[in-house]
Amino acid sequence: MTALGRLTSGLRVKPVGNGGIDVEYSAIVFSQARVTRTVSELPPATDPDLPGALYVVATPIGNLADLSTRAREILGSVALIAAEDTRHTRSLLQAFGIATPLVSLHEHNEAARLRPLVERLQRGEAVALVSDAGTPLVSDPGFGLVRAALDAGIKVTPIPGPTAAITALSVSGLPTDRFAFEGFLPAKSVARKNVLAELLQEARTLIFYEAPHRLSEVLLDMAEALGAERRASIGRELTKRFETMYYGTLAELAERSKQDPDMSRGELVIVVAGLTAARSAPLSIDADKVLRTLLEELPAAQAAKLAARITGEKRSVLYERAVQLQK
Ligand code: SAM
Repeated sequence: MTALGRLTSGLRVKPVGNGGIDVEYSAIVFSQARVTRTVSELPPATDPDLPGALYVVATPIGNLADLSTRAREILGSVALIAAEDTRHTRSLLQAFGIATPLVSLHEHNEAARLRPLVERLQRGEAVALVSDAGTPLVSDPGFGLVRAALDAGIKVTPIPGPTAAITALSVSGLPTDRFAFEGFLPAKSVARKNVLAELLQEARTLIFYEAPHRLSEVLLDMAEALGAERRASIGRELTKRFETMYYGTLAELAERSKQDPDMSRGELVIVVAGLTAARSAPLSIDADKVLRTLLEELPAAQAAKLAARITGEKRSVLYERAVQLQK
């Protein structure tokens, strides 16, 4: 049985009076208790007596089995789907036997599409918003439509599912209690270095999307701006056939990306450790002075070791500072 088959085998689907269907399913709630809930929220495609509804629907980032049962139900029952690329979404819908009409909504036409879409929502139509992969609005179009729908008093409902950032974070081995999603860094090196310099003191785990052909240069810029010893991980082709995770320091990953052409094949998420609390605390002036003096005569490792003994500061912190001072 496929993963999808297993996923759907617990469902009980029964026809209801208005031509729709009710789906009973089991869900795990936060308490981990097993509960049964009836989904009777499927929208009538059009109902002039009801306010319309906008559904923001997450779709797979590579593995079709990750399209949720709710997402399938909603995509199959709305009057219209606004999609980043209609051809791409049509293939997804075909895989699930869904024939809902599509309209394109991408960064170049979003402004022009808002009014007609909001008018349809105001006439009582249910509309779904999807992007090519993952969660709409996450480095993807849709913000304008969500804002316009909310401003028009339309109910906006999330249908959650995959997003590459959280998928990569969950297996990064880096702290997940606080994180910052940075999306795509600027493509040009000077602008990119400026953004990275602003992130130097950021204590939260950092998540970046990146184009594969820029991987090596971006890792080198990160190593230079954030520190060669910062821990990081790269999630490549997540949920797909060639899914691979790479772990190491920024310097190690930069070096590996130059040697291993596979590393920059496919889609990538880079997750970088934040500055740890210990490291973000400014050194006392004395420790910095001691370190600078020792560095005049000694290599970084030895200078850091001696400075740690003299000042009581952490050796690893002093070493990182020594490496910075030597640049
Ligand atoms: N909305 C999507 C989401 O929720 O993740 C992101 C769209 S953004 C235009 C595309 C970027 O997401 C890619 O360049 C890559 O950085 C990341 N991405 C998407 N799918 C991925 C996958 N399967 N594995 C790794 N990264 C992925």
